[in-house]
Amino acid sequence: MLHLGGCSAQDLIADFGSPLHVYDEAGLRAQAQRFVQGLRQRWPNSEVLFASKSFPVPAMYRLAQEEGVSIDVAGAGELLLAIRAGCDPSRIYFHGNAKTDEELELALEHRVSTIIVDNFDEISRLERLLTRPQQVLIRLIPDIDADTDAAIQTGGSTSKFGLPYDQALRAVARMEAHPMFDVVGVHVHIGSQIFNTAQLAEAVRKAAALGSFPIYNVGGGLGVKYALGQSAPGVEEYLDAITDEARQHLPADAKLIIEPGRSLVARSGVTLYQVVSVKHTGRHFVAIDGGLADQLDISVAGEPHEVIAANRMNDLAADVVDVVGRQCESGDVFARDARLPGMQIGDVVAYTGSGAYSYTTSNNYNGALRPAIVFVGAGHARLVTRRETFDELLALHLYEEGHPNE
Ligand SMILES: *Cc1c(COP(=O)(O)O)cnc(C)c1O
Repeated sequence: MLHLGGCSAQDLIADFGSPLHVYDEAGLRAQAQRFVQGLRQRWPNSEVLFASKSFPVPAMYRLAQEEGVSIDVAGAGELLLAIRAGCDPSRIYFHGNAKTDEELELALEHRVSTIIVDNFDEISRLERLLTRPQQVLIRLIPDIDADTDAAIQTGGSTSKFGLPYDQALRAVARMEAHPMFDVVGVHVHIGSQIFNTAQLAEAVRKAAALGSFPIYNVGGGLGVKYALGQSAPGVEEYLDAITDEARQHLPADAKLIIEPGRSLVARSGVTLYQVVSVKHTGRHFVAIDGGLADQLDISVAGEPHEVIAANRMNDLAADVVDVVGRQCESGDVFARDARLPGMQIGDVVAYTGSGAYSYTTSNNYNGALRPAIVFVGAGHARLVTRRETFDELLALHLYEEGHPNE
């Protein structure tokens, strides 16, 4: 039987239902420390931010803060989750390429540490809204086409995020001329699931090229290993690459900030499912009780993850099957040609490495409900996010008279 944090996969499903996102709390904390300590050893004046879009739930916001990791939010919703989780606003960084007046007002009201300014319209908004000095970074388009899926490239010349050099310099000059902007530096982020540490390091040089500032925030993007056959750079290799570059190009007393999301949380999370049906038609199918509603990336990015027969770990993996989800899309496939023991109804399947962007992108396709989330450790499981209910699904809508939405 597969155990997670000392809890058996089958017991977890029996206690909390299926599908279920399970996070190894010690793993999350250890990875946070690897980033915080690792960066501090190499560049003492540094700060690690959790790119919270990768796992935006209050238990994680709190854990990040407890581990000395500050918070990056994009938009009012993430800001409110972080505040409600008890995060200190003076350690919250506010991102977004289309921040509205309402969001900026909310960020200012909560006195977030830093706003990462994306464009001139945002500067106009802030010129109107600022009533006290506000620390800001300018988001630069570094013009790096990262070796990753086009959907998660963010730093190429055609990126929708930030401004190219000439405009970024004009933006800085305009803000510096205004008494309420405190322009402290530059931000770049070149994309996600990047395995090439040289490109991540190049981002440091590109940021440095904008000029001399107190702060350089070089984003996130470090890739993670999802399938057994893959290899990904370690956190230390990544930190070596960016701090070597920083030593060559940044002012010696500058602060270096990084914003890992995926690489902080992906591998501490597993999603458990139960088998609903097994059939042998054109192919051998094992269908489970979830799908792209809770793992959107299986159809979008097509990242190969490992699937494990959690309650049959010692059985011979003699079958070759496709593990498929229950949403009405043919791309709703968790694994093709997976080697598993002969699966039966009720067996538990673990979908590994699902800790990043799964909950983020979960949706109600086919009326699916967002799964619950538990943190496990030392043989104990605690619910941190409860399962969505059909009542909640129904309650959003207005119904014809005579069909009260009670
Ligand atoms: C998404 C994002 C990150 C994190 O990216 P990962 O690939 O999850 O590490 C960091 N910074 C910004 C601005 C982002 O948009």
